[in-house]
Amino acid sequence: KVRNANESEFHQAVKEVFDSLVPVLVKNPQYMRQAILERIVEPERVISFRVPWVDDNGNVKVNRGFRVQYNSAIGPYKGGIRFHPSVNASIIKFLGFEQIFKNSLTGQPIGGGKGGADFDPKGKSDGEIMRFCQSFMTELSKYIGPDIDVPAGDIGVGAKEIGYLFGQYKKMRGGFEAGVLTGKGIGYGGSLARKEATGYGTVYFVEEMLKDSNQHFKGSTVVVSGSGNVSIYAMEKAIELGAKVVACSDSNGYIYDPNGINLDTVKRLKEVENKRISEYVKDHSNAIYSDQCSGIWSVPCDIALPCATQNEIDEESAKLLVSNGVKAVGEGANMPSSLEAIEVFLQNGVLFAPAKAANAGGVSVSALEMAQNSMRLSWSFEEVDCKLQEIMKNIYRNSKKAAEEYGAPGNLVVGANIAGFVKVADAMIAQGII
Ligand code: NDP
Repeated sequence: KVRNANESEFHQAVKEVFDSLVPVLVKNPQYMRQAILERIVEPERVISFRVPWVDDNGNVKVNRGFRVQYNSAIGPYKGGIRFHPSVNASIIKFLGFEQIFKNSLTGQPIGGGKGGADFDPKGKSDGEIMRFCQSFMTELSKYIGPDIDVPAGDIGVGAKEIGYLFGQYKKMRGGFEAGVLTGKGIGYGGSLARKEATGYGTVYFVEEMLKDSNQHFKGSTVVVSGSGNVSIYAMEKAIELGAKVVACSDSNGYIYDPNGINLDTVKRLKEVENKRISEYVKDHSNAIYSDQCSGIWSVPCDIALPCATQNEIDEESAKLLVSNGVKAVGEGANMPSSLEAIEVFLQNGVLFAPAKAANAGGVSVSALEMAQNSMRLSWSFEEVDCKLQEIMKNIYRNSKKAAEEYGAPGNLVVGANIAGFVKVADAMIAQGII
């Protein structure tokens, strides 16, 4: 009997982690005796709830909300909220499971969780988004708190949605508990550099990885999928380090600009005007648009940064990247490469930075936002960015070291999984059978 049948993304995420852990279990039999794998794979709590709301025409709509409180061995549950029509139990559980190890890797005291709803913010008015967020938080507020569970943004949830969610949390609970959500606006408890953190962090991590084999972003050709929060700031940092970013995308298609993507245009289209990436070619006649989003992986590049969504690189796309000479892949999105695609990269000597290490910058700065909220302080952009760089370097060093220690030198998939796991497993054992 298959447990959690039909939850293919969840199975994929668990397989990737468990396959890496074999040498740890051999070396530390107490993890088997204590049934750590059986325990860690089962969420501490799964909350699923009705989210009723009224659209602009007075029609009642209903969506399904989720919060998975996965593991609190090393700190309060922490992880984003995703609003996207594809959200279901499998997606939220895979994200929550990954989050346990990612958060452990950051070195900060945060456990793993994730949430969301199958609500599609595209094409909705501001009023509809606000009413949806209020209904979502009316239920969620019963289960979260600054020392219990601290959600943040993810796909479809940015500063605007966090603002509405925070407003409703205050109304439900009374008082100003700034630390209950991260990714807040700067004027009411948000952290400078949080918006940039995941994208910048991915580039910092990949730069560390490249340096080890005498390579750099400088002078490289880069392809970055997506054009959302992670993607835009990964492009920004890569360009700042001297790379030429030649392609990016959205869920309708991709653009290729041989002169290098003009990031101001992308920011205007995506952050201000809420338009499709296809509009880019109106301002840049040398650029080409294609309505095949996965075609972005046919664009030759030295470094590929998948920053859109899960399983966006399949085996075929991975082979295409390799045959076009890709040297490094850094996962800004969560689980953007299928298991088969990862195998293609590793077998062909491509430097590979797995998501739970490479994109941990966002949650790291979220934890710094929680720290600032507790101390009632606001650090400068430079201070937060400096801490972010240190954290990403540490994650790289620790993942590399764990890979070497457990017989898989250079394999950061194995290294990140092991380094993230051991700390959580030891904390679980120390806290008894709970
Ligand atoms: P956003 O909603 O800001 O952006 C997502 C982007 O990906 C949009 O441009 C979207 O296009 C595009 N997209 C979605 N599906 C596809 C597809 N099939 N092909 C091409 N493009 C697609 O989300 P984020 O940037 O916040 O998140 C992106 C990824 O990074 C997710 O996997 C998320 O879990 C992960 N992540 C995010 C963190 C954060 O701090 N925000 C932290 C760590 C990980 P469209 O506009 O058409 O929908």
